[in-house]
Amino acid sequence: QLLAYKCLQTTFHDEFGVTKMIGKGSFAKVYLAAKKQSGVQYAIKAFNKEFMLEQFKGKESLENEIRVMRRLNQENLVHLHEAYETQNSIYFVIDLLQGGELLTRAKTNPFSLDTIQKLMYNFIKALVHIHSKKCIHRDLKPENLLLKSKESNVDVVIADFGLGAFLGEEILFKRCGTPGFVAPEILMYKEDDPFYDEKCDIFSAGVIFYILLTGRQPFQGTDYKAILRANKNCEINYNIKQIQQASPKLQELLRKMLQQNPKDRPSAESCLQHPYFEEIFNKNDLVE
Ligand code: ADP
Ligand code: MG
Repeated sequence: QLLAYKCLQTTFHDEFGVTKMIGKGSFAKVYLAAKKQSGVQYAIKAFNKEFMLEQFKGKESLENEIRVMRRLNQENLVHLHEAYETQNSIYFVIDLLQGGELLTRAKTNPFSLDTIQKLMYNFIKALVHIHSKKCIHRDLKPENLLLKSKESNVDVVIADFGLGAFLGEEILFKRCGTPGFVAPEILMYKEDDPFYDEKCDIFSAGVIFYILLTGRQPFQGTDYKAILRANKNCEINYNIKQIQQASPKLQELLRKMLQQNPKDRPSAESCLQHPYFEEIFNKNDLVE
């Protein structure tokens, strides 16, 4: 058995009918499945054991992902129901997010400023929960943000805790995440440097904010190296119509979240208190 975590062994295919693949990341494939007994649909995140063990220190990283997900419980975070282990695979049974990836939706039908405001509010609210549980996500990027339903553009859900970590614990992958979306301090990380913290998630949330507003990524370059360099040096072009036409409150929050020095970035909690969210905050806490 690969996982120390109590897993349900070998009964997976008796209990679930898998229909089709609905997503793919660098670690896992995600399938649509229905529980045979109840007919309820789930997403199944499937890992090949051999691949994980060879490539990614599989055992620790899978246990880590389970541990982080088990600690979290909030409506804008993907929920892990159960983990199964068979001879060749590990399966995570998670909530099916019917709306698909956030950016796919945003591309076909660009979001209004009003939608972006509510969406960012829900997104940061989920970050407040993650950080309050002393966890960090470390891999916030467009393909890890999904929408709950086809109807709503603001019910965003954070998925993929594969690089999740616990603050104050020794971290598994010290330099990780995806260039273009990651905080500069993660790319700069060296063994003898002071450690980075949950502010790395604020930076990546700022990158997503930027993409939603402008439809383009903040770190551009003709090749991978150029993107990496722009990301490391935190060279961001704010001279874009959609940003300049947005309210001063929005611009201020965006710039604060994308500060190069993590100490200059607001916490998730203070992002929610920012004047940009004032109107929503006054109306109600639950934004639909
Ligand atoms: P990896 O760790 O390999 O990146 P992810 O957890 O990010 O795997 O899942 C890969 C892709 O599968 C996501 O980018 C998304 O498109 C899709 N996906 C993940 N979880 C769900 C879900 N709960 N419901 C629907 N699609 C999902
Ligand atoms: Mg992913």
